[in-house]
Amino acid sequence: MANADDLYPWLSEPWRTLDSHFDTGRLPQALLVHGPAGVGKRRLAQLFAHKLLCAGPGEFACGHCPGCRLFAAGTHPDYITVEPAEPGKAIGVDRVRQLIADLALKSQYGGYRVVVFHPAQAMNLSAANALLKTLEEPAERTLMLLLAESLSTLPATILSRCQKLAVPLPDSAAACGWLAAQSVAGAPEILLAAARGAPLGALALAGSNVVERRRAVYAEWAGLALGREDPLAVAERWESQPHGEFIDWLSAWTLDLIRLKSAPGLEPRYAPDLAEELRTLAGGLDLMTLFNLWSLLLKAKAALGGQANRRLLLEELLIHWAQPGRFKTPTW
Ligand SMILES: [Zn+2]
Repeated sequence: MANADDLYPWLSEPWRTLDSHFDTGRLPQALLVHGPAGVGKRRLAQLFAHKLLCAGPGEFACGHCPGCRLFAAGTHPDYITVEPAEPGKAIGVDRVRQLIADLALKSQYGGYRVVVFHPAQAMNLSAANALLKTLEEPAERTLMLLLAESLSTLPATILSRCQKLAVPLPDSAAACGWLAAQSVAGAPEILLAAARGAPLGALALAGSNVVERRRAVYAEWAGLALGREDPLAVAERWESQPHGEFIDWLSAWTLDLIRLKSAPGLEPRYAPDLAEELRTLAGGLDLMTLFNLWSLLLKAKAALGGQANRRLLLEELLIHWAQPGRFKTPTW
């Protein structure tokens, strides 16, 4: 059941931090667990919740006691998850009000209660505001675990009421070693690069045609900078692709270009498999163009999460990239 084998190796450090908080009686009431998507924040939260709800004394949940059996069955009444009704939707204020009402009652098993918000950034502003008082004065023996990809996605009012625990990406050699041990189809380092270094993201991509897709997107993107592709034609081809995916790739390549341009001796951080190509590209670009592109990509990422006109957005982004001299402030 729950044991050290369930803990991804790169989670040992944050686990030790949690465990020492528990051992020394310094468990915070609200803990914000933050790190990139695909790094295992949810697994960490589940294992720790399981431990808190177990009657056993071990470092990990025992797997046999009544608490463990209920947890394994997904029916432990003192384990509460607050999630969007559908992926990508907001967590609304009604869900938070319902949680507050539930927490006003005593814990059903007389021990800890654990509430996991996943992802915490899905709370809309009313939901976040409704939660503030509970974060300040939670019910007794209640741990609120808020999972988020980045601190910048949460209101300052939430941040100031939570202790923080970072879950960083593992170094690429460790992540590749882990991926190889999972017998993934495909080269671990390329899968890892496609998932921007997140091992679980890379695992999810294994067996898909993502490696070929990413290569094709790179060739078109580099072709634009070199004047070999038409931005409107590329925008048309990309419109139907998963938008999060290519914006993430473009962001990763842009960060690598900035890195290579700023310190030519360094290796790319996010796309080591494209080192040669990126170096050639970096040679012909200036830093200001790259910083402008980076700022456009950030805006595009935010706009794509809303009601933006995707085609228009892509066209503006790619026209800017293909013709930096004609850069205009985009309308989205
Ligand atoms: Zn147990």
